[in-house]
Amino acid sequence: MEFTALLGQSLGGAERSWQSRANCMGVDPELFFPERGSSTREAKEVCRGCVVQADCLEFAIANGEKFGIWGGMSERERRRVRRARLVIKQPGRVAAS
Ligand code: SF4
Repeated sequence: MEFTALLGQSLGGAERSWQSRANCMGVDPELFFPERGSSTREAKEVCRGCVVQADCLEFAIANGEKFGIWGGMSERERRRVRRARLVIKQPGRVAAS
């Protein structure tokens, strides 16, 4: 199954418009879900030139995607973005590490 097919399973109809322009169309989804400790470089290379990278990243963050490379970021990198946004929304709050 292609990664974009996996995306299609997760997305609602209105949210799918960006999926058809994804760079990962036709790419083996295993590339985006590497084994723990494996390189994410190849997946990030595919994402680097993707015109819907921002949509993909926002989708993953909004839906709490815990696994895989989305929007060119690993789960750890997305967690940092979520925490940073929480701090911005709640300036007095200190994000847990
Ligand atoms: S950013 Fe990466 S994972 Fe997301 S749609 Fe584009 S190529 Fe696929």
